[in-house]
Amino acid sequence: MASKGAILIAGGAGYIGSHCSKAVADAGFLPVCYDNLATGHRSFVQWGPLVVGDVADSIKVATTIQKYDVRAVMHFAASSAVGESVADPQAYYLNNVAGTLGLLQGMRAAGCDRLVFSSTGAVYGNAGREPIPESAAGPTVNPYGRSKYMIEQILADYRAAYGFASIALRYFNACGADSSAVIGEMREPETHLIPRALMALQGHVGDFAIFGADYDTPDGTAVRDYIHVDDLAVAHIAALDRLLQGQPGGVYNLGTGTGYSVKEIVDAIHRETGEAVPVVMRERRAGDPAILVADPAHAERELGFKAQHSDLPNIIRSAWAWHQKAHPRRG
Ligand code: UDP
Repeated sequence: MASKGAILIAGGAGYIGSHCSKAVADAGFLPVCYDNLATGHRSFVQWGPLVVGDVADSIKVATTIQKYDVRAVMHFAASSAVGESVADPQAYYLNNVAGTLGLLQGMRAAGCDRLVFSSTGAVYGNAGREPIPESAAGPTVNPYGRSKYMIEQILADYRAAYGFASIALRYFNACGADSSAVIGEMREPETHLIPRALMALQGHVGDFAIFGADYDTPDGTAVRDYIHVDDLAVAHIAALDRLLQGQPGGVYNLGTGTGYSVKEIVDAIHRETGEAVPVVMRERRAGDPAILVADPAHAERELGFKAQHSDLPNIIRSAWAWHQKAHPRRG
C-alpha cells in the first residue's frame, strides 16, 4: 500500500475522478476507485484497484472503506449534464442526492468522516454578478445545480451534527486532459462545449451548434470560466491535505476568475487546431445561465490554490491530443 494510506475515489473511472486519482497516487496515497461503470471507463482506472459498486449501496461502501482502511473519500460519482437534468430531474435527484446519502451512510458506518465533494458553479444560477463569491449560492436555475446545492446543505448539517468534515469544491467548467492522453473527456452522448466542438472537427458530431446568441454578454453568447482538469486535481490534493490535518472543511470556488464566451472558445479551437469548427446557431439551451465566472480568492487564501494550467491554448491543445487518440477522425 502507498505509504500515506488509501483514499476512496467514488466515480474514479470518470473524467475528473480519473485525473484526481492520478494526482492522489502522485501525492503518495493509494486511490481506490469505486465506480458502477455506468458512465465511467475501466481503462481510466490506472493507479489503484477498482471496486465496481454504486454509491447508493451503503453496505458495499462501508465494506470497501474497511477493507482498504480508507482515510478519506473524494466523491465524483454524479450525473452532470445541465440539459439532461432539466429533461429528467428524477434521475438527477436519485443519482446525485440519494446516491450521496448512500455514500455518507456507508462512510459513517465504517467510521470514515472526511469527504472532498465535487460541487459546481451551477449552484449560482443567474448570479447576476461577476466574479461570483461563494456567498452568492442558492438561486439555482436547473435540477443539476439544485441537486449539488442540496448535497452541500446536507454536508453542512452533517458537519454540525456529527463533526463530519467535508470540503465542497465548486468547479466552474472543467476541461482539458492529462498530458499523457491516456485519460480525458469521454461521454456518450457528449454534451459539453469543448469536446463537442473537437468531435465536430473529427466528424463524430454532425450537428454542432452554439446555443443562444442573444444573451446579455459582449458577443451575445454565454460566458463561462474554463478550468483545466489538472488544476482541479491540484486543488483536490490541497483540500484532502486540509481535511487530513483535522480542519472541519468548507466550500470553495475552483475557477480562474476569467470568462470566455462560447464564440471565443470556438475561435480559440480554430486557432489552436488550424481548423474551423463547422457551426450553426441555435436557440438557448434550457437551464443555461448567461454568465458564470468564479471569484477564486477564497480558494487561494485558504487552500493556497491558484489555477496554473488553465490558459486556453493549454486547455485546447491537451483536449485535442486526447480526442485525436481516443477517437480518431472519421472518413
Ligand atoms: N454549448 C454550446 N454548444 C454545445 C455545448 C455547449 O453552445 O454543443 C454552450 C452551453 O449552452 C453553455 C456553454 O457552451 O453556454 C458551456 O456548456 P457546457 O455544457 O460545456 O458546460 P455547462 O456550463 O453547462 O456546465
